[in-house]
Amino acid sequence: MLIYDLDLPSLETLLKNWNEPTYRAKQIWQGLYQHLYSTPDQFTNLPTSLRSKLAEELSFNAFRVKTYLDSSDGFTRKTLFELPDGNLIEAVLMRYGDPADDPQMATSATNRRGAKNRRTLCISTQAGCAMGCVFCATGQMGYKRHLTSGEIVAQVMYYAQMLKESDEAVSNIVFMGMGEPFHNYDNTLAAIDRLNDSDGYHFGARRFTISTVGLAPQIRRFADEGRQVNLAISLHAADDDERLAIMPVNKRYKIAEVIDACRYYIEKTHRRVTFEWALISGVNDTPEVARKLAARLKGLLCHVNAIPLNPTKGFSGEATDRQRATLFQQTLEQAGIPCTIRMRRGIDIAAGCGQLAGAESG
Ligand code: SAH
Ligand code: SF4
Repeated sequence: MLIYDLDLPSLETLLKNWNEPTYRAKQIWQGLYQHLYSTPDQFTNLPTSLRSKLAEELSFNAFRVKTYLDSSDGFTRKTLFELPDGNLIEAVLMRYGDPADDPQMATSATNRRGAKNRRTLCISTQAGCAMGCVFCATGQMGYKRHLTSGEIVAQVMYYAQMLKESDEAVSNIVFMGMGEPFHNYDNTLAAIDRLNDSDGYHFGARRFTISTVGLAPQIRRFADEGRQVNLAISLHAADDDERLAIMPVNKRYKIAEVIDACRYYIEKTHRRVTFEWALISGVNDTPEVARKLAARLKGLLCHVNAIPLNPTKGFSGEATDRQRATLFQQTLEQAGIPCTIRMRRGIDIAAGCGQLAGAESG
């Protein structure tokens, strides 16, 4: 059993079964999530007999680091993990200067540690993905399996432990790595709860972002939970036929149904929704498309995050150039929909959105 798969009550039950006092569970919990210990022998506040028992009965390693790659600008690291069953997953660390998302701002070591600088983790929720979006490398590889909550938590702990060595800390967690978080709803939410626990890692709900392909029933379920977690929807088209051509999920949930679910979410939570938009040259980047999109989103508390398409092996579409991206952004904004163009990160190591395919070649 992976130790990160346990929540605090389960850990307490386990310790009780071992005839240990309950407070030991809290000590282990704090060791894991406050001190960021990664091996049983680091728990020096526990008796050696209990440390041995932990080592015998529980696993501290969710995966093996197969390889990692740093982008040439030094701000992005992609780590490839091998799970015990041989499946490969990836998680990415992005260091940003604030507020312009400009790596140039974070060139000096001091600046890198500055309070304003963000350390964003992009975490996987599945090995592969079943949704089959044609422009996405993970979609192109197909579905392997759900990750357990502990396997999701362990990706965060891996980077948290690494960052701690240089006095840095994680500032944001986005579920935009491999997989569709709402297809693996329970485990993703359980991972968030574990990381959010105030006796443990205490990572604020508002610093998480779930990105979904648009599974309408799960968006509604998520709305009913009334969490402070941010929600992003991958839309990429304003017309059902056009969306279906690149996103098979549109067969089940049409754009209007997804947007209705978002409207429900906003009514329930009063939180702003992000719509993600990969700009594909000549496909979804024209002023006409921008106006159609604006009409669809009118009146919604939302904004659009557009990002020029990242290249993947299995898709021939090309990224929109800067000029046309700006025109798309301006057209949306003139129609009353706020839009930001995101910088592409880690392209040279295939760690950009939709490029994670669990292959060493990237
Ligand atoms: N399955 C979830 C989260 C993982 S994908 C989702 O689809 O939202 C994270 C983001 O990367 C999504 O917005 C997705 O649409 C986007 N994406 C996928 N492939 C991309 C590509 N080649 N270029 C740019 N963005 C891409
Ligand atoms: Fe899956 Fe998201 Fe990629 Fe679509 S974009 S295939 S939902 S990971």
